Amino acid sequence: MCGIVGYAGPQTPSTTALDVLLEGLARLEYRGYDSAGVALVTPRGLASAKRAGKLERLREALAENPLPEGTVGIGHTRWATHGRPTDANAHPHVSYDGKVAIVHNGIIENFAPLRAELEDAGVELKSDTDSEVACHLLARAYNGEDESGTAGDFEASALAVLGRLEGAFTLLFTHADHADRIIAARRSTPLIVGVGGDGMYLGSDVAAFI
Ligand code: GLU
Repeated sequence: MCGIVGYAGPQTPSTTALDVLLEGLARLEYRGYDSAGVALVTPRGLASAKRAGKLERLREALAENPLPEGTVGIGHTRWATHGRPTDANAHPHVSYDGKVAIVHNGIIENFAPLRAELEDAGVELKSDTDSEVACHLLARAYNGEDESGTAGDFEASALAVLGRLEGAFTLLFTHADHADRIIAARRSTPLIVGVGGDGMYLGSDVAAFI
């Protein structure tokens, strides 16, 4: 289990979410990790970048292909439990419709049947992780493609998905159509929430806040 950072700032950007996320991830480096990534909710939809290796590799990727600015974002340093340390297995994971991004610390124990269910529904999974199922399940619930009855409701869809997950996790969810929020959840793993004058901060370790 490694590190998570989230930031939901004011809608007129004084601080860009990306700067906050990279700073927070740098403060989590001491924990050790094998990959890093970020996703931003921008006026043009979700934008994300992720790389196996050190945070420096992510910074290089961002310098080559800058992301549009966003005021809400999530970041992750990964310590692989399911799937090798590769770019594809790094977090965030983005749903089949490109609208949901998630980061996850911990292990989703029942990922295999959930993965099979998604594949049966025609969803093409892009990683070997246990985590990726969470973004697709949320998209299906939100899009009214499953039995949850939560179509169009981001929070209810997230709750429906969380109720289906077994294991220990800290999870952050963002949705392209909800540029003002991050949904955060934890079960048997840490999650710290900080409210500041310039926004709301989330972290899996108090070091991210210092
Ligand atoms: N189990 C997830 C993975 O292998 C998350 C690992 C973590 O906590 O960094 O991608």
